[in-house]
Amino acid sequence: MIEMTNVYKKYPNGIVAANGIDVAIKQGEFVYVVGPSGAGKSTFIKMMYREERSTSGTIVVNGMNLATLKNKNVPYLRRQIGVVFQDFKLLPRLNVYENVAFALEVIEESPKIIRKKVMDVLELVGLKNKARMFPTELSGGEQQRVSIARSIVNTPKLVIADEPTGNLDPETSWEIMNIFEEINSRGTTIVMATHNREIVNTIRHRVIVVEGGLITRDEYGGDYGYEG
Ligand code: ADP
Ligand code: ADP
Repeated sequence: MIEMTNVYKKYPNGIVAANGIDVAIKQGEFVYVVGPSGAGKSTFIKMMYREERSTSGTIVVNGMNLATLKNKNVPYLRRQIGVVFQDFKLLPRLNVYENVAFALEVIEESPKIIRKKVMDVLELVGLKNKARMFPTELSGGEQQRVSIARSIVNTPKLVIADEPTGNLDPETSWEIMNIFEEINSRGTTIVMATHNREIVNTIRHRVIVVEGGLITRDEYGGDYGYEG
């Protein structure tokens, strides 16, 4: 699903955020990416959907070589990957239904199929009855549910989440985790950067620790395991 070999990333300001990363993630895995702030977690996952380009090394995602992937083919890659952010990134002028349907409308699905797919994912995240509400009318947890619905409406094989519970209270965070568990149980690969020690130590999955642009630990069923 994801294969990185000897990946380096140097930003224009000279900071090296990935310093020789090697990793392989298989279809269906659930992977936590943990580590201190500034460790390179976001850079690591942004390179998986070509939000950032590696400086050297190879990155293959879903059979596509991201080092040689042409910019015009990036939208094709993105349709195969769902992305969830800490701050939701919903479109404020669109209601819940429209925020989720947007991803399908750009690929010109028929209105009937769009309606079915959108209502199915809204049901999965428990928001079927709020389809007409706008993002500002929703709690943080509900906004994150919308953003998760949007990320999976194209049925991607991979969902990448960058601190999806970072802005949520503990109880809401557990609810959001249950949705990711459900998505993963259906065979979707999940890669999630998180600072939530309690979640990582309770819902056990593979844990990749990033420190100083390097993977310093990679353990199946591991714990959060570093101070900070
Ligand atoms: P984390 O997600 O673990 O906090 P990041 O990947 O965001 O780490 O950052 C790793 C390092 O790269 C940090 O030193 C950060 O300041 C730097 N960095 C991140 N993004 C950029 C950027 N766009 N330009 C320059 N430096 C960056
Ligand atoms: P939380 O308990 O997660 O902080 P809120 O108190 O923000 O949630 O919201 C609780 C409920 O009230 C949610 O169902 C949400 O949809 C609704 N709600 C919150 N803000 C508004 C608003 N400005 N207008 C209408 N409904 C709202």
